[in-house]
Amino acid sequence: MEERAWDNLFRRGAGLAALLTMTLALAACGGDLVPRGRVSSASKPHKAKTARPAAPPTMEVRQCMAKLQSQSVAFTPLPDQNFGGGCSAMGSVKLLDIGVPATNLGAMTCNLAANFAAWARFGVQPAARLILGAEVVRIETFGTYNCRPIAGSGKLSEHAHSNAIDVSAFVLSDGRRISIEKDWSGDRRTRQFLEVIHASACKRFRTVLSPNYNAAHHDHFHFDMGGKGGFCR
Ligand SMILES: [Zn+2]
Repeated sequence: MEERAWDNLFRRGAGLAALLTMTLALAACGGDLVPRGRVSSASKPHKAKTARPAAPPTMEVRQCMAKLQSQSVAFTPLPDQNFGGGCSAMGSVKLLDIGVPATNLGAMTCNLAANFAAWARFGVQPAARLILGAEVVRIETFGTYNCRPIAGSGKLSEHAHSNAIDVSAFVLSDGRRISIEKDWSGDRRTRQFLEVIHASACKRFRTVLSPNYNAAHHDHFHFDMGGKGGFCR
């Protein structure tokens, strides 16, 4: 891609920087891996300490963004940011249109965003049509970036690096709402839908956690692009 096109992309990204900072600070208030009632003090949002001037993206990030564009995904590149406490959003994007509306999408690393968009379009939507006979009109999530540790651990969650997303429910064109919390042990067809999209996620994300993993995940799927991969529970 021409340098000018990248310049334009990043100019648009810089325009949203102030709004993003606010959005990230708000998003940091949520929690998921940390069981309710035991929210760690380390999960408190940190104010942005340093907003680096727009550094050129790495080759990997450029290739990823080119891939997103080739898949007709609408997105805004975000400036790299450190939020303190080891929390950051590097090589991240804000997804604007992936073909299936999704709620609470904050900063996501490009790699996570590309896999999420592909999962929604090529995993979730076809499975809903085939198994449930309806379109998914909304994917509900608990969010992406969140500066906090993994529950019961001092280690930062991939959420602290905008490298994870928690998916909680699917709203269908016929008005049905399928949630992980209510329907993971639901009727046969609904269970089959959730099992199929869980398996699809395991092919795309490095780590996939479901209610099968532990009680902290009783109400959502956690997907991230950290670690070596192949962790599917
Ligand atoms: Zn998560």
